[in-house]
Amino acid sequence: LSARILDGKQTAAVVRAEVKERVRALASRGVHVRLDVLVAVQDPASVAYVRMKRKACEEAGIESRAHEIGPETKQHPLPRHLDEGAALQALGANKDVDGITPQSLGALVADLPGFVCATPLGIMKLLERYEIALEGKRAVVIGRSVILGKPAALMLLRKNATVTIAHSRTRNLPELCREADVLVAAVGRPEMIRGDWIKPGAVVVDAGYNKVEGRQGDVGDVDFQGAAKVASWITPVPGGVGPMTVASLLSNTADAAEATARR
Ligand code: NAP
Repeated sequence: LSARILDGKQTAAVVRAEVKERVRALASRGVHVRLDVLVAVQDPASVAYVRMKRKACEEAGIESRAHEIGPETKQHPLPRHLDEGAALQALGANKDVDGITPQSLGALVADLPGFVCATPLGIMKLLERYEIALEGKRAVVIGRSVILGKPAALMLLRKNATVTIAHSRTRNLPELCREADVLVAAVGRPEMIRGDWIKPGAVVVDAGYNKVEGRQGDVGDVDFQGAAKVASWITPVPGGVGPMTVASLLSNTADAAEATARR
């Protein structure tokens, strides 16, 4: 391996300790911080994520409450009888700590203050922590989901990177990736991005968490061993983007509580 590790676990611990301090300061002013999580699906990934959120909240002194709003179903992201648009409209942007309402997403596009989805925010916090220069850099984000690829691309753009968003209809993906100084993988296909797709010295961020039969734990979208021989920096899976997601959700929660307390 020649790449250095962008250590999400360690960085998340720092962010979470900061959040804990902020929650303590709020408590000393009589402000109680609580995260309410609406749970619509009971698939293993959602259950695991909710469990992680609860544990992280406890450690930071934040109360957490999970509300089940639908029957067991595999439909993603909301059961058929629930109207996702109406649910998102009903959520006030000032409490949208996952940054998924149209208002929050619009604010991101318009360069206005607002909450950003936890995973792309976590990616940006990690790059910032390691002082990865983004200005003028060629960034390629693979994936255009509303919760990950698109906001990650917009945040990289905000930092003056020149950004390309790739997706399932993109042609010549390996060639495109080879142009990237910063490559963000947000696809959901285990080890799809091969070592020889990486530009020498590139920074590689792997947001993928994939289950692979016969393999223990989660597998990223990037062939870590191959990419780490070529990249300058790389996130591991696990221990990269995942812990940063939870930490960013907590820091958004602290932001929301501080903003409410100021009113
Ligand atoms: P998603 O909604 O399924 O989006 C996947 C994106 O990848 C889509 O834009 C899709 O293109 C694109 N894509 C699929 N196959 C492709 C291919 N062969 N070549 C190029 N692009 C392709 O997934 P997501 O929710 O964004 O999640 C992506 C990955 O990140 C998953 O592994 C997920 O588990 C992980 N994730 C991790 C965290 C975390 O906390 N670390 C949080 C959320 C998600 P089209 O738009 O054309 O279909």
